[in-house]
Amino acid sequence: MSAPLETVWILGDQINRSIASLRDRSPGDCRILFVTSEAKLASKRWHRQRRHLVLSAMAHFAAELRAEGFEVDERSAPTLGAGLRAHVDEFEVETVVAMSPMSWDGEAMLERLGVSTVANNQFLCSADEFNEWVSPRKSFKMEDFYRWQRTRLDIMMEPDGKPVGGKWNFDHENREPPPKDGRAWPEITEFELDEIDVAIIDDASGDLWGDEPRGVWPVTRAQALQRLDEFIDHALSPFGAHEDAMLGAEWKLAHSVLSSSMNIGLLHPGEVAEAAAEAFREGNAPINSVEGFVRQVIGWREYVWGLYWYWLPDYRDMNALSADRPVPPAFTGEAETAMACVSSVIDHLETNGYTHHIERLMVLGNLALTAGVNPQAMMDWMWASFVDGAEWVMVPNVIGMALHADGGMMATKPYASGGAYINKMSDRCKGCKYDPKKRTGENACPFTSLYWDFLARNEDALKGNHRMGQQLAGMRRLKDLEATRERASEVLAALDAGTL
Ligand code: SF4
Repeated sequence: MSAPLETVWILGDQINRSIASLRDRSPGDCRILFVTSEAKLASKRWHRQRRHLVLSAMAHFAAELRAEGFEVDERSAPTLGAGLRAHVDEFEVETVVAMSPMSWDGEAMLERLGVSTVANNQFLCSADEFNEWVSPRKSFKMEDFYRWQRTRLDIMMEPDGKPVGGKWNFDHENREPPPKDGRAWPEITEFELDEIDVAIIDDASGDLWGDEPRGVWPVTRAQALQRLDEFIDHALSPFGAHEDAMLGAEWKLAHSVLSSSMNIGLLHPGEVAEAAAEAFREGNAPINSVEGFVRQVIGWREYVWGLYWYWLPDYRDMNALSADRPVPPAFTGEAETAMACVSSVIDHLETNGYTHHIERLMVLGNLALTAGVNPQAMMDWMWASFVDGAEWVMVPNVIGMALHADGGMMATKPYASGGAYINKMSDRCKGCKYDPKKRTGENACPFTSLYWDFLARNEDALKGNHRMGQQLAGMRRLKDLEATRERASEVLAALDAGTL
């Protein structure tokens, strides 16, 4: 009698034929398992396009593997564990193998269930390599990690070990405000929904939000490769200069919109970075755009991944500023807001399940930070609401970067700012009911009032931070601090009530 087939269990963010658990397999030597957890689907108020992306990518990948000749078991179950047990019982499986998941709890779950794991190959820097880099250092920052990555991966490097272009970082060329020329931004293909997509849309139930899927997000590797080509050919070149700019009528500008594809496995960060570097070598994109993009992919993204594993589990529960406000109804779509910047960012999110990094950090994150929104609630909302959301992405970005809930472990000072930054980098303030320069009075910009109130409210927690000295001194010098704080308390009440 032949031995029973091994099962290879593929998780929802491992959608690639080259994942470590699958790359050397062929039809006939294993059975493939996909499980959809009903508990996971019910655990959050998911954005419709986020829910659809994962379920559709899994179903399309299952169909591709079936077409290749694999026996595939796709099942829905109350939990992932229940699905695995039902599969093991039905097929009398003795060995189940999976690639290490991208989450702390997922890793613990596989261990609990007795699943053998192989190392995850979806990143350029493994958790072990990151630990080796970080361990000898007393302090560490992304820029050092990025240079280490560039060097060891040999991306955009000269033969003598110097960075191409003579500098590691061209960021100062990438902070242009929105252009005033009314230019057209690169277009992206919206992929036609097929019968798998339609069935998933028709089957959707529960408390969901956001617009219905319309094919913006690649659900197959072929679609993701097309999106990558479109970015390299049309958007990489103009990407850099205006990567921090915000426009109400334009949700993506020249951003790559590749993060969802990388985060569920359809694209590998190595091939994405190499495609950009190749465009530079061919003379098709300027150094500031290519270097800025490569830094996002092999620097920031991998740094966040490394820190997630380095600092968890305690890190995700940190709340250094004791922030306890709920996520504002203006964010969740449960209330309209007159804040033009927030309104347009939420509109982008509702329509596409996506906003670019500056809208996340300097509008949503900044308001949540200065208003004192609870970091775990904010993280949970962002995880459910963005197509590229995942715990490993959201924990460092929200707990560390945006909300300073780690007390400065990741970012040396809070990313708090008043309306001036948004006024400079967006076209929103002109038509807004509020005035970015005012901190008191009825039409004071909520960001500006809250910024000063945030400094005053958290003075004790921040005064030991030498990088905050100037800002705290500025706050102490304000002659109208009391009136500003009174206005801030009105702003906070209106924010909670959904009337701001
Ligand atoms: S005035 Fe304030 S609330 Fe209005 S768009 Fe500008 S920053 Fe946003």
